[in-house]
Amino acid sequence: METTVDSAFIRRAVELADLNAVRVALYQQTKDQELASLPVAAKLDDAERELLIDKAVSWLERNAGPTVPPRPTDEELRELMNMVTGEDMGDLEFEARRQLPAFEDFPWMIDWPDGKPELPEGFKVAIVGSGFSGLAMAVQLERLGIPYVVLERRSEVGGTWSINRYPDIRVDTISVTYDFSFEKKFQWTEYFGRGAEVRKYLEHISRKYGVFENTLFERDLKKASFDESRNLWVLELATPDGVETLEANVIVTAVGTFANPKFPSFENQEAFEGEIVHPARWPDDLDLKGKRVAVLGNGSTGVQLLAPIAAEAEQVFVFQRTPQWISPREKYGSPFEPEIHWLIDNFPGYWNWARYTATSSLFETHQFLVPDEEWKAKGGKFNPLNDKMRDDLTAYISAQTGGRQDLIDKLVPEYAPFSRRPVVDNGWYKSLTRDNVELVTDGIARLTPSGIEAEDGSLYDVDVIVTATGFEVIKYLAPAEFIGKDGVSIHEFWSKDGPRAYLGMVAPNFPNLFMLYGPNSQPLSGGTGLPIWYVVWAAYAARCISRMIEEGKAQVEVKPEAFERYNEALDAEASKLILLQDEGAPDKNYYVNEFGRVQVNAPWYGPEYHRLCTQVAWNDFVIT
Ligand code: NAP
Repeated sequence: METTVDSAFIRRAVELADLNAVRVALYQQTKDQELASLPVAAKLDDAERELLIDKAVSWLERNAGPTVPPRPTDEELRELMNMVTGEDMGDLEFEARRQLPAFEDFPWMIDWPDGKPELPEGFKVAIVGSGFSGLAMAVQLERLGIPYVVLERRSEVGGTWSINRYPDIRVDTISVTYDFSFEKKFQWTEYFGRGAEVRKYLEHISRKYGVFENTLFERDLKKASFDESRNLWVLELATPDGVETLEANVIVTAVGTFANPKFPSFENQEAFEGEIVHPARWPDDLDLKGKRVAVLGNGSTGVQLLAPIAAEAEQVFVFQRTPQWISPREKYGSPFEPEIHWLIDNFPGYWNWARYTATSSLFETHQFLVPDEEWKAKGGKFNPLNDKMRDDLTAYISAQTGGRQDLIDKLVPEYAPFSRRPVVDNGWYKSLTRDNVELVTDGIARLTPSGIEAEDGSLYDVDVIVTATGFEVIKYLAPAEFIGKDGVSIHEFWSKDGPRAYLGMVAPNFPNLFMLYGPNSQPLSGGTGLPIWYVVWAAYAARCISRMIEEGKAQVEVKPEAFERYNEALDAEASKLILLQDEGAPDKNYYVNEFGRVQVNAPWYGPEYHRLCTQVAWNDFVIT
């Protein structure tokens, strides 16, 4: 249907829009000082809101069109960024955030500083994985003109978004920040894109940027060994036609953290006559209509899939081992309105500032993670902000369950919010109040031919057990084996206390090997959304690779002492955060490994980690 863009349509668009982004985009165009003096959107009174909307509508009526605003100067950019939050940021923060509005063509990616040098003959990078980070790396290498091949074990692009196809799968950070900032103004169907659309988006990126034709599908990396005499990695790949060998100067692993499902095992499991399904292996034809279903797990996956299952199945038993803090998200599940699609296309700068505004909600997360001893001494639980979040989420649980005390008693965690990966509600609490749903908090003793026997002896007869039990996060890079210099195996190297890396990306004895989303790389705080980090890490690997090429060398490797020093500092920093403190329930948290150390996250304040990942400390490397 043809959209009629008249005054009423434009007004609706502005009323639906992110008013912070409207204000800043309009100010960028007009320099109208009245806009600069308005407060941030959340603090606008009715009259100020009307004034802003009127100004935007009247400007759009005269000027709407698909033009791109010029890239602001640094000074102007900083002023505009400060307008979004209503606060002046420091230099460290400005450096980390300046490319968030994405006025550049390829934010965070690097170019050759002095023109492209001649590459060694046959030089090639092997990228393992065609999910978000593999694509970020490939696009970065396309920009530099460095030959590469992407090895993908599946038969399509998408990584975790190809693997996971369970009901209601979607992103749980708003799509405008969970996409690449080099792909401008992508029009998502919903505010939080569904899994199938995210996978299609990744394939679109792969094809548009020339990566697809450099991707080899059904190539599953089993082993990679560094041949020191030739400075080459030799990769063994399982294919449908047997084992294939490939050689590359550099390997970049982009295998993700959530690639290998964790399958639980229960006593007497083989006796169960029904079906056991892990969400990451969801059968396309699984029909749960009229079935009795057990759902194990209440992490992001279990919480996302309960509502659609409960709507179909006859009876659902939800087995909860540990309660979670589960929060709502505005516009979760809502379609993008045609008016907003129009605004993105026709209001210059709106898309850029909507990205920035959406991301700015992550800037202050560090404050939730650090204890306040004075506050605790006065009877507080962790720190004022964290405790306020606890109160808000407790009230949310109460509201969603209709005040049912039997449920509330089982659902409110004792540990502090933000100590585990936040979980986003998809009608999970509400589903628990349905007549056909029962929350079970007794442990699982064993399976029976017809279902589950709980530790208190209760029997739950089911046809299907959905094991939303997570992923083998701790077994990083496994089952593939990497053999570095002197025959060192990466898994042996990591056997003392789990996977470690320098900046999450490199390890001594493994020259020319870069890990994206590697050990201790997921930023915990002050962050900017993961796709930006994929690009930042890819650019870091590219800096190292290009420096090696420019110097006419064949190996780039982190020094052992730099690796040790970095990891000591990392452990010290991690110990200060909520994850390892009692309030954080470290034994119930996949961020913490079996050796009791934080393995998934970078504990640094986000802008500081960004600095480390964008300014290579060359003294920490040997290039030979
Ligand atoms: P998860 O967070 O590790 O949760 C696993 C759940 O299964 C927990 O409730 C755990 O209980 C339970 N569990 C594990 N083993 C069990 C056993 N043997 N018996 C009974 N219960 C068991 O896994 P996930 O939900 O798949 O999420 C993993 C990560 O994937 C998320 O944190 C997120 O980063 C990502 N993810 C993202 C999205 C999204 O963005 N939309 C969606 C899904 C997943 P305990 O808590 O007691 O260990």
